[in-house]
Amino acid sequence: MSSHSDAVATLKATLRGTLLQPDDPDYDEVRIVWNAMIDRRPRFIVRCHGAADVIAAVGFARAHDLLVSIRGGGHNVAGYATCDGGMMVDLSLMRGVRVDPQLAQAWVQGGATWGDVDCEAAAFGLATPGGVVSMTGVGGLTLSGGIGWLRGRHGLCIDNLVAVDIVTADGRLLLADETTNSDLFWAVRGGGGNFGVVTSFVFRLHPIPPTLMFCAPVYPETRAREVIAAWRDFAATAPEALSSIVEFSTLPDDPELPVEARGMRVVTVGAVYDGPADEGEALVRPLRALGTPVIDLSDKIPYRTIQTFQDALFPKGRDRNYFKSLYLTGLDSGVIDDIVTHAEQRPSEMTLASVWQFAGAMQRVAADATAFGDRSMPYMLSIDSIWSQPEDDAANLAWSRGFWSAMRRHSNGRLYLNFPGHGEDAALVRNAVGEATFARLVGVKRKYDPTNFFRVNQNIPPA
Ligand code: FAD
Repeated sequence: MSSHSDAVATLKATLRGTLLQPDDPDYDEVRIVWNAMIDRRPRFIVRCHGAADVIAAVGFARAHDLLVSIRGGGHNVAGYATCDGGMMVDLSLMRGVRVDPQLAQAWVQGGATWGDVDCEAAAFGLATPGGVVSMTGVGGLTLSGGIGWLRGRHGLCIDNLVAVDIVTADGRLLLADETTNSDLFWAVRGGGGNFGVVTSFVFRLHPIPPTLMFCAPVYPETRAREVIAAWRDFAATAPEALSSIVEFSTLPDDPELPVEARGMRVVTVGAVYDGPADEGEALVRPLRALGTPVIDLSDKIPYRTIQTFQDALFPKGRDRNYFKSLYLTGLDSGVIDDIVTHAEQRPSEMTLASVWQFAGAMQRVAADATAFGDRSMPYMLSIDSIWSQPEDDAANLAWSRGFWSAMRRHSNGRLYLNFPGHGEDAALVRNAVGEATFARLVGVKRKYDPTNFFRVNQNIPPA
């Protein structure tokens, strides 16, 4: 046996999980990530069962000079979970969640999804901010910020992070929290997967009512300008427990819908009130009466159900995707007009575009408190291009990039790292977090990963 195959055999014997290589039967199924545009073939996939496996994988990759990607929920649109020719450190079997209701904290393994967390926390009447889809990974979503329905009252995911266990490039397992390795703890709250493999997260939990008011009236896209302006004015004075967005989409050809609504282009006013459901119902009444909705999907439902409401729109590995964002400095009629004009020209009926309002707890966190940077921007525009055929790639990418470029004049120049396009922007992180935060992130990267071992990500080069 060659020394290389000896080393592979030793790694296999060391692991509690499994090592997959291209000729293994499960290889093709496991290498697939969420975005169907991403088709990469790692030489090794380590299906980790715990921190020991992660340490072994990192040690092997270091010894053999392998490119390393970290896979949490596999939902990163740029495909950072996988790589060609290197090693995928696959955490997708590490989905354990333990809730301590007395401490109001959840211990969450690095490959869990938000659905895992929501399920375990709901059993105790608790929740922590996640995203707005249950199948996305806790790992990637949290490490670059984490924006969801509870942001108004409880902030971003990172604002609820208490501690992480993280395997760094030198193979050590470190605890990082406010007092231990606090520079690293600052950096993982916004700096993505640059600093190591997080094997577990600890989140603060909050009491949540058994049902919440979920507001979702759907209006024709032809009325988008007035609907968005009315939502903007309403949201400006709404209590911070209400988090809201407006979203462009196309209604499906669903026999359950009225005939005239099927296939209609629409704009939905989505809002969740994190408080008593009856109070929320009364509060959002004006949003449901901005003219006559095509349909109104509003309901009083458990938070966990709200989190799964959009799951069916985003099946794994089916569609081709390009999601890109920017932060808007305002939403006057000129901005609204630019958004609507571009949204109307989308080449794919599957494509979404949304404006997220930022307010409340998520904005009160100081710019230097986390690596997310300044929070003062009032809105985020997210352009979520979705289509099915490779021959339509060029048209959809061109439309998305054209829309994004046209909107830059209305933005503060920054963007959200979890909607990074395909990562083609060479100055992605600098542009996302701003100059001061970026400089500090480079310092932490230099300390914990001086060789840029973890570089398949929204990368922060150490030099
Ligand atoms: P993966 O592709 O598994 O990982 C992406 C990268 O994150 C990895 O390459 C690695 O660098 C890092 N990473 C992941 N896990 C770890 C870990 N344990 N340790 C170290 N590094 C790790 N974002 C929001 O904020 N709010 C939303 O509501 C939201 N909704 C979305 C809905 C859909 C359908 C999709 C596709 C994306 C959505 N996003 C949202 C964006 C989402 O946050 C990113 O796609 C994120 O990267 C997904 O995390 P993941 O763990 O699934 O990703």
